Amino acid sequence: MNIILLGPPGAGKGTQAQRLVERHGMRQLSTGDMLRAAVKAGTPTGLEAKAVMERGELVSDEIVSALIGDELDAMGPSVGAIFDGYPRTAAQAESLDAILAGRGRKLDHVVELEVNEDALVERITGRFTCATCGKGYHDKFEQPKVPGVCDKCGGTEFKRRPDDNAETVRTRMAEYRAKTAPILPIYEARGIVAKVDGMAEMDDVTAAIEAALKS
Ligand SMILES: [Zn+2]
Repeated sequence: MNIILLGPPGAGKGTQAQRLVERHGMRQLSTGDMLRAAVKAGTPTGLEAKAVMERGELVSDEIVSALIGDELDAMGPSVGAIFDGYPRTAAQAESLDAILAGRGRKLDHVVELEVNEDALVERITGRFTCATCGKGYHDKFEQPKVPGVCDKCGGTEFKRRPDDNAETVRTRMAEYRAKTAPILPIYEARGIVAKVDGMAEMDDVTAAIEAALKS
């Protein structure tokens, strides 16, 4: 089985991908990771990519396709692939079809973890942690039992991550929409897109993904 997993930052995509890897022995193919690994290993594709990057240029679709092809060949035919961060364009979507077809594979499902942007902003901007022990809290969902005092260690200092703000979350959502806009309609037209509520409890999200993969 070969799938694309889509989801904006904060939707829990990393956790869900990890669970698919553990449950089904699938392999997560992130083009960034593959690129770094190929450069490090000094494979022919890696050397080509390194030269391009050293010239300050973007790695071409051909190189990315070659990387994916190499990885699929190394995985062997029985291991399923989870594509993460690829494809981003209609041309890449077409390349992916060709890469898969050339290996007797096909894209079975595109799973999109959907989030409610306002709820996501509320979830992320409310987060804070104990500066001493790191216990997580939330302005709305989990305040310390005694205001200003950590439940776990009694600490009174708390901190917030500077990028946990509404503007950053909304910017990331806009970037995500811009990146997926070119490819979602292609797969929707094929009827292989499953939308899963990424705001649900993590185990429920996993169950919904499993159900989508069986359909
Ligand atoms: Zn604490």
